[in-house]
Amino acid sequence: MDILNLYQELIIDHGTKPNNHRILENPTHTSEGYNPLCGDRIKLYLKIEKNRIQDACFKGSGCAISTASASIMTDMLKGKTQLEALTLFKNFKDLVTSSSDKEPTHELGKLLALSGVKVFPSRIKCATLVWHALNDALKTR
Ligand code: ZN
Repeated sequence: MDILNLYQELIIDHGTKPNNHRILENPTHTSEGYNPLCGDRIKLYLKIEKNRIQDACFKGSGCAISTASASIMTDMLKGKTQLEALTLFKNFKDLVTSSSDKEPTHELGKLLALSGVKVFPSRIKCATLVWHALNDALKTR
């Protein structure tokens, strides 16, 4: 199967049936993101205990790309330390904004499906919206 088709399916899959799309009771960290260019609105909830992300979920409405990004991100955050989460944020930002063709790190996993947005600058904000919310949530504590 063509890798681009595979990536598109992953985005459609996560964009229409996102994982972790719910409100978290008693979150330790929250943040909101809004992308006026597209109308994406996301609220991120985290529960961090013993320096590890025990739970991560989001509520919001947006396009398939912002929803897929939030779905995959919240899946990947569980079990990570805050430092690991911030490193993932940096690697993901590099993936979608960098023009270099250096091999992306293996750790990105399903996030590689979103790498295609870098040729659509208006879509980069969709893909990174939830990640900036993550960055804000972790920095405000
Ligand atoms: Zn969008």
